[in-house]
Amino acid sequence: MILEIILAAGCFWGVQAAFDKLPGVLSSEAGYSGGYVENPSYETVSSGTTGHAEAVKIKYDTDKISTEEILDIFFQSHDPTSLNRQGPDIGTQYRSAIFYTTEGQKEIISKKIEEYTPYFDRPIVTEVLPAGSFWPAEDYHQNYFEKQGGSCSFHINERFLKKKLSEEQYHVLREKGTEAPFSGKYVTFDEEGVYRCAACGQKLFDSEAKFDSPCGWPSFDKALPGTVKIQKDFSHFMIRDEVVCARCGSHLGHVFQDGPTPTKERFCINSVALDFQSSAPEEKENKK
Ligand SMILES: [Zn+2]
Repeated sequence: MILEIILAAGCFWGVQAAFDKLPGVLSSEAGYSGGYVENPSYETVSSGTTGHAEAVKIKYDTDKISTEEILDIFFQSHDPTSLNRQGPDIGTQYRSAIFYTTEGQKEIISKKIEEYTPYFDRPIVTEVLPAGSFWPAEDYHQNYFEKQGGSCSFHINERFLKKKLSEEQYHVLREKGTEAPFSGKYVTFDEEGVYRCAACGQKLFDSEAKFDSPCGWPSFDKALPGTVKIQKDFSHFMIRDEVVCARCGSHLGHVFQDGPTPTKERFCINSVALDFQSSAPEEKENKK
């Protein structure tokens, strides 16, 4: 199903950059929504007198990215407890808001607010309203970061992570730590399902890619397409290929080219960096 949703989470340049390149996102457009003035401009919206929020209209294919996933990124990439302010940007035009287009989305939004509430010290103040007029912003503001040569910006909220993750998880994922070998819960674990990033929830590895390895960490022979990034790691007097989550940049482990399967790859991943989700029958039904 093709759906639209309008999200406001501070300056729209960053919001558009966070969503625009996601698999399943068909298009995104920066603009103004939630106000009471027709044909607003950046200047009038910035004056705070039009009632509009800087927003991004996202069109997505639910077969490839679910509304839940869109909202996970939304709630993780800004501070939904901050009223009319995101970082240095202050004013009602920078408020946190979701403008939905279907009743199904509205229900999912309420569930997500419930799910995320325990991860913050203050109440979530995100405004939730049915979508009204959306006024596209001036061309200059479309894909702004991309035009500036900026990299894909999904900046995960560290305060959210500190609350969500255990100390060990935070150390591994955000400070490039390593769990002790043979200590992780997924080392000798072989249920069917999918392993997600423990920080942002993105799916990373299918259980089919997992193999028994004597190294002491869960090992996979491939990642799901486009979900991880490999970067050089020069720490500990070695040159290794570090594996990070492509969405949130969290450290997952390392990859070596000595695997026993045809891919030859051995993704050596910390258990604490992963959240396993079983493909139990009810789960499959939900996916249709
Ligand atoms: Zn992640």
